[in-house]
Amino acid sequence: MHPITKAIRLQTPRTHQMEHSTPLFLTSSFCFEDAEDMRAAFADEKEANIYSRFINPNITEFTDKMAALEGTEAAYAMASGMSAISSVFLALLKQGDHLLSCNAIFGSTHTVINKYLPKYGIEHDYFEADKPETWEASIRPNTKMIFVETPTNPGLDILDLEMLGMLAKKHNLLFVVDNCFATPIAQQPVQYGADIIIHSGTKWLDGQGRVLAGVVAGKKSIINDIYLFCRSMGPSLSPFNAWILSKSLETLDVRMERHSNNALFLAEKLEHHPKLNWLKYPFLPSHPQYDIAKKQMKNGGGILCFELSGGLEAGRQFLDNLKMLSLTANLGDTRSIASHPASTTHAKLSEQDRLAVNITPGLIRISVGLEHRDDILADILQALEN
Ligand SMILES: *Cc1c(COP(=O)(O)O)cnc(C)c1O
Repeated sequence: MHPITKAIRLQTPRTHQMEHSTPLFLTSSFCFEDAEDMRAAFADEKEANIYSRFINPNITEFTDKMAALEGTEAAYAMASGMSAISSVFLALLKQGDHLLSCNAIFGSTHTVINKYLPKYGIEHDYFEADKPETWEASIRPNTKMIFVETPTNPGLDILDLEMLGMLAKKHNLLFVVDNCFATPIAQQPVQYGADIIIHSGTKWLDGQGRVLAGVVAGKKSIINDIYLFCRSMGPSLSPFNAWILSKSLETLDVRMERHSNNALFLAEKLEHHPKLNWLKYPFLPSHPQYDIAKKQMKNGGGILCFELSGGLEAGRQFLDNLKMLSLTANLGDTRSIASHPASTTHAKLSEQDRLAVNITPGLIRISVGLEHRDDILADILQALEN
């Protein structure tokens, strides 16, 4: 079956009730036939549900679909995107190891790398997203992992996955991609040699701003190491959230098609607006890494960003003028969302660190929803004009 069909048809085995839609397994533990059955399950001699901190049928259904969509052998899910990211770091890196990360990454990922990994003796360096000629020179003898997002949040830089995959292979590094912005519909990093693909399920995978979740996908052996770490450390995903997400994946492909069509429409309409210094969208020919985006992505995704010529005050004014678009911290929703990173998500970074990742004072990020595209455009235009 095609992965899109698997995202709809992979299903927990039907119970004797003959239900069509998967039931919610809201149970903390599972029963055994007898003492021998229980012993074998605990000894990992048979695959069995034991306890929902480890695994639960709703989680397995969701992760089976994610592995199918990402084209990997296995996947595991946790309580949030950040628990997925921190579990990857802590399960696979140890004292003395060096993590090489792109500088343009999600704000909380920065905090984990800068503030917490050093406590465990894990070193790091950042390379610049738009200077690929410097990447290889940043690799050290003790570098174990390379971590990137593409497109990056919120600057929408595109990193060349093929080049990164070759570097990782040459230097024997674990290649980790946060694929949250693209989704597996637009981009499958495993095709370029990624060892671990991470998602915040909170964003496009849910797509309706209801639940938090994180996913890791990759080879069985690596995912098993992360699973064993999580089953003891405990960042478990709620079966209810997994049930929601498994249903959401049935519509991921059609939703992403509309999100990206709406985003491209807005990008083309707004690109030359006089109040904007620039507008960035991966599938606009004016995007600095347009050729790479076209090579590795099937669509440009649902996010666009632009810079208001009026700077910080114009950014705040723009948000105040919006009538329909939501002002909220999330992205990847049916409802269009506007955010102003300099005063919110990235306010903890210094001005200099913000500028290093192209977060200028007037930068606005739009997560394009599923409303009629004319309504989204009209709201943005009136907010710009006023
Ligand atoms: C939101 C986000 C995360 C963190 O996910 P949570 O589910 O909020 O913990 C990580 N990476 C990217 C790119 C994100 O947008």
